[in-house]
Amino acid sequence: MVLRTGRPVTKKGAKAAKHRKAARQWYQDLPQAEKDAYVARRSKEAQRKADAKRYAKNPAKRKAYHKERTGPIAARIEKGELKPPTRCSRCGSTKDVEYHHRSDTRVVALCTKCNNRSKPSK
Ligand SMILES: [Zn+2]
Repeated sequence: MVLRTGRPVTKKGAKAAKHRKAARQWYQDLPQAEKDAYVARRSKEAQRKADAKRYAKNPAKRKAYHKERTGPIAARIEKGELKPPTRCSRCGSTKDVEYHHRSDTRVVALCTKCNNRSKPSK
């Protein structure tokens, strides 16, 4: 299983898939400086608004998506296999520490800041 990053796919069909693939390739081919500039240009406010609109339209889908991403770890914590995270393994912060998926089985406790920094840029 490949853990997906980013937003869920909202448009289905061959045409949308072709566009997604082309857009991904375009982004991947950019030099790192242009990738950073592109990310900096995006309007965070507009993205947040679009996300909120999509979630409001189908809360059940949002809930299922969230459960799929966080469910296995929450279940392991409940079973006592995993201790709830207390300290960021990178910076040592004790604030907003969450588990971060490295693979299907390996999880790393990271604070929100370090987790956001660790997301792949591809
Ligand atoms: Zn940290």
